[in-house]
Amino acid sequence: MSRSKNPDLIYDDIVQERAERIKRLELASKKELLDKITLDRVTLFVTHRCNLLCRYCNGPHLDKLMDQNKRKIMLESDFSFEQYKRFIDEWSAHELRNIHFTGGEATLNRHLPEFIAMAAEKGISSTLTTNGTAGHGLYRKLVDRGLSEIRISLDSTVDSDFDETAGVKGACRKIKDNIEELVCMRDKEGKDICLILNACIDSYNLEEIESTMRSLIDLNPDDIKFLVVAEQSRFVHVKAARSTVDRLLSDLKQSGKDYPLLEKKIHALFRKSSFGLKDCAARYEMEHCYIPLTERTLDARGIYPCSIYLRYKGAPVIQTDAGFDEQQRAIDDFVENHDCRKDEICKDNCTYCCKNFNLEANRKIRDYRNLKFAEENVIVVNEISQDEIRGLLETNEKITKINGTIDNPYAIIKPQGFDYRFAIMEYLEEQGIRILKQIPIEDWSTFSLYLYFKEGRSPESRLARNKAHRAIEHNNAIYLQLEKGVPEKKIFRIKREFREWFGEQVRFVKYKDEMFKIRFNCFHVPDYDRIEAESRVARYFLGI
Ligand code: SF4
Ligand code: SF4
Repeated sequence: MSRSKNPDLIYDDIVQERAERIKRLELASKKELLDKITLDRVTLFVTHRCNLLCRYCNGPHLDKLMDQNKRKIMLESDFSFEQYKRFIDEWSAHELRNIHFTGGEATLNRHLPEFIAMAAEKGISSTLTTNGTAGHGLYRKLVDRGLSEIRISLDSTVDSDFDETAGVKGACRKIKDNIEELVCMRDKEGKDICLILNACIDSYNLEEIESTMRSLIDLNPDDIKFLVVAEQSRFVHVKAARSTVDRLLSDLKQSGKDYPLLEKKIHALFRKSSFGLKDCAARYEMEHCYIPLTERTLDARGIYPCSIYLRYKGAPVIQTDAGFDEQQRAIDDFVENHDCRKDEICKDNCTYCCKNFNLEANRKIRDYRNLKFAEENVIVVNEISQDEIRGLLETNEKITKINGTIDNPYAIIKPQGFDYRFAIMEYLEEQGIRILKQIPIEDWSTFSLYLYFKEGRSPESRLARNKAHRAIEHNNAIYLQLEKGVPEKKIFRIKREFREWFGEQVRFVKYKDEMFKIRFNCFHVPDYDRIEAESRVARYFLGI
């Protein structure tokens, strides 16, 4: 079994590699960006027509609510041979790796075999999503022309169930025959074809998901991909318990198959945040969508940010007939200026994989910029006198002797976290943590001098770090007094999440030729073992 050649963002290594490349592109000049862009994948909707009538499909051939004129144009515009000929040279010049043909039902475009052959001549791999109902001969021809992967949609292997879903009698039998033929081509004739079976999960077939998985495994594909109908993701999330995930994983293990795509999908499928951009991480951290920068999604009429956008009938970024540089500029403008978190299509339907990749790319770019800033802004701390050290130790001694008991946990939003202040407070409330009081800390530098006075390193370096804090931070901070009884573990989990979402600012301090790294979190809660001492410090300075 070979892993899919499709550079799917479900794979961690592909996410990492691409996010790293996006980071380099984002930091290049606009001119370099246009010249250097390499394309990972083109998703080509070669037709919007289809011969099936799946109950969950919102394709234009079934969407009676669509504007009739737009619908007619979509259904009548197949991707033409002339369009393809013009594009393939441009894509190849930008080192395109993969073209994914889809639709509608892609095999209804009569040029498909030529499209695949031309891609193969240019060294570009071709993959196809099909409903599996075309004739044996056509699939064989496509493989012979160079098709490297075929994804066939089959939501159930029970003939009557699937035929009902697809709205066409006999569809299931035909698809299973084609699958058998393809497996034979792969295993007996030695053809280099990867076969993936796609199964859409909705409220009708969720209960049978385990038997569906087992019967799909019996068909012996190279991998399986579960998809959830976006409109029903809430239902699937509510209904599918953790035990469903465990059972599916255990069945997969027992089958002895190495199906990385399926395993990833089982983990991702039932999460509450699997669809849309409404979760906290996406809302506060996904500033830009970088998907269209190295991918193209298009049909005969327009270029879209992604296939979700096209499927939900969003407007194209630019017309298909525009020149490559013009397309790239329009896409660059979309990446820079379109806030997907406010876009109704993205907000509800963006998939887990795209979101995950975007979070990673945004994080890498932000971290890089922070690091660059830090490197250019090294703070040099001068020699520290013995008197200063003595003074600090004495004051610290005094602080730790302040009496008091902990009755409320607290959290501090530090100056660097002020951009996220409302996001932080909103999320605390969302997590059921009530904020009793907000108290501004006006002299944060003095406050931090004590708060960050930790044991374990030489007094000189501690003092150097504290001096650096004082040199950097002149702004206010805010002290949040939280209600009683919030478990410390919960606060610590939230702290970790904030650090992941908002990243860290890193600064470098030089003292006696030694560099110290200071990390800033935007959000501070006391350490487990220092909660009492820190609470005293807070009380002492804030008079509470
Ligand atoms: S095969 Fe695909 S395009 Fe055709 S009706 Fe089913 S979901 Fe829609
Ligand atoms: S749906 Fe997701 S991938 Fe598509 S444009 Fe919106 S944010 Fe980007």
